[in-house]
Amino acid sequence: MGSDSSSILAPKKPVPAQEEDPPSPTTALLSFNTDSTSSSDSSRKSTATTVVFISLLLVTCVALSAAGAFAFLFFSTPKTTIQTTSSDSVARPLRNLDRPVVLLISSDGFRFGYQFKAPTPNIGRLIANGTEAETGLIPVFPTLTFPNHYSIVTGLYPAYHGIINNHFVDPYTGDHFTMSSHEPKWWLGEPLWETVVNHGLKAALYFWPGSEVIKGSWTCPEKFCHQYNGSVPFEERVDSVLQYFDLPSSEIPVFMTLYFEDPDHQGHKVGPDDPQITEAVANIDRLIGKLIAGLEKRGVFEDVNIILVGDHGMVGTCDKKLIFLENLAPWIEIPADWVQSYTPLLAIRPPQGVEPSDVVKKINEGLKSGKVENGEYLRVYLKEELPSRLHYAASDRIPPIIGLLEEGFKVEQKGNDKKECGGAHGYDNAVFSMRTIFVGHGPQFPRGKKIPSFENVQIYNLVTSILNIPGAPNNGSLSFPKSVLLPSTP
Ligand SMILES: [Zn+2]
Repeated sequence: MGSDSSSILAPKKPVPAQEEDPPSPTTALLSFNTDSTSSSDSSRKSTATTVVFISLLLVTCVALSAAGAFAFLFFSTPKTTIQTTSSDSVARPLRNLDRPVVLLISSDGFRFGYQFKAPTPNIGRLIANGTEAETGLIPVFPTLTFPNHYSIVTGLYPAYHGIINNHFVDPYTGDHFTMSSHEPKWWLGEPLWETVVNHGLKAALYFWPGSEVIKGSWTCPEKFCHQYNGSVPFEERVDSVLQYFDLPSSEIPVFMTLYFEDPDHQGHKVGPDDPQITEAVANIDRLIGKLIAGLEKRGVFEDVNIILVGDHGMVGTCDKKLIFLENLAPWIEIPADWVQSYTPLLAIRPPQGVEPSDVVKKINEGLKSGKVENGEYLRVYLKEELPSRLHYAASDRIPPIIGLLEEGFKVEQKGNDKKECGGAHGYDNAVFSMRTIFVGHGPQFPRGKKIPSFENVQIYNLVTSILNIPGAPNNGSLSFPKSVLLPSTP
């Protein structure tokens, strides 16, 4: 961990992401059933309990008879579930590789559920024989590409890894961060490739935000690190990754990344429910198929730990779901140069001498007045007063005023006649449409296992556990990998 980031990390405890998951409907129902009975009328309560008990008994008898009747049908039908074998209680031994290898694949904007839009036999194969987050992977807030990709590889929330938006301004120097800024000063924390190289191992990155940043022990070597170029065909990227497995075994990188811009690219243009998305998803599946075939040809498919993720989801946006800052003028004028980003993450830094709390108060007065169109779908906060589950305060790079928009709404400076529909992401990470996928497949992942949703800051510890190297301090939980991976010894 670089000295510049250790100080901001010091007070931070590891945050188990499972706690971030909202209670499932089942949990909510259960707690309603057990907590709702009043204790004031105990005799009525016990009568009610007896009636409920007898009813349950009757229902159980009926259910058991029905079950008996259906048992024959059930057992005579071939089972479609994945058979777990005794070897699944421990990690399966490597056949052709000398040591564990992790291939981390990102399909940008692969919203959870897209896997059902088209036949996806190859992703389906990884899911059936691997471990899947059953209700998707939870991105970090803001649910944007750069903050999330860098959280995946550092285990840190954006406030701690420094990439707090796809573009932002350093409040001290006035320097602008953009998605092509490769100066190490922006990129805090220790990404997986740096951890890997620190332990004398090799990493090979076919694109990932931050991969070109020369920092710590990572030199972005030409052979194993590609300068980002979105026009490189996806097939060529897959072929290059496969070629790493043709190296002498001691030279095969133990950590590899592979990045695809789709289906995010289409999602922005046409929204998540257009046939173009279906086609893009089918294409990603074909690429996964090409990758699997290449690994099988080399005899290493069962040896490689493949982790397939996205960075965030996607939601449809359309005209009419707009909020214009100029409509707040009766309460407060918000000049465009106060606004660092509009939508879906509204971030405002007023100049010196303007009190952020006054700005928040006046904006919210306007929004709640009923006189600003769609005002009820935006609420602004001092960053310190944002819900703590967003972890979006502990960096001076985060502007003092942050707006949270309801899913699908957008903020703009001025009204206009644009009538366009498309897709967006960046909203609250509790919004289900912002979720993406997680699939793990390989010797250390149980076959056919479903795990609850978790935040992507857990992936750093998962990878270092598979590689069996110590990791840098981060916001993930140290116990998370044990809850997912097969132990290496009985
Ligand atoms: Zn995007």
